[in-house]
Amino acid sequence: MLEKLPNFIDTKRFTLQNCHLKGNVDLAEMSRLHDSLYNQDGTVEIDWHFTINEQHRPIITGNIQTTLNVLCQRCLQVMSLPIETKVALIILNNEDQEVPDNYEALILTNPETSLYNMIEDELLLALPIVSYHTDCSSNQYKTLKADPEDLKPNPFKILENLKN
Ligand SMILES: [Zn+2]
Repeated sequence: MLEKLPNFIDTKRFTLQNCHLKGNVDLAEMSRLHDSLYNQDGTVEIDWHFTINEQHRPIITGNIQTTLNVLCQRCLQVMSLPIETKVALIILNNEDQEVPDNYEALILTNPETSLYNMIEDELLLALPIVSYHTDCSSNQYKTLKADPEDLKPNPFKILENLKN
């Protein structure tokens, strides 16, 4: 069982102390994500390393893993959407600092940062625009099911026959 993570952390101090943060957060804590979800069941697991890189800059690297319950946009049934994404953040004091390749900027104005917000931002980026079952049965369903309208005699067809 992974440990539940605190929300507010001193990110810069964590990088100076080479902290390793591993644990989970309830999806229910991430309100901006709720509109994209069928429900808020489940947790997000993270495994993050806070450190100072060779260029003496504070960074966070690691990964995020979760399974979201979303609606398939083809059949509108609930489906599990596993998400696994890598994180590579460089901590900046302001927007003017340059961001090296392979890093995303994390601008911190306060020493205390919401870890949940950081995780939620990463999940929002990783979320596909539309989700659907890879083997969605909705297409199959349509071809197998006879449309009752097809079975009724078409009144226009009958008129056409009368005209002839
Ligand atoms: Zn589906």
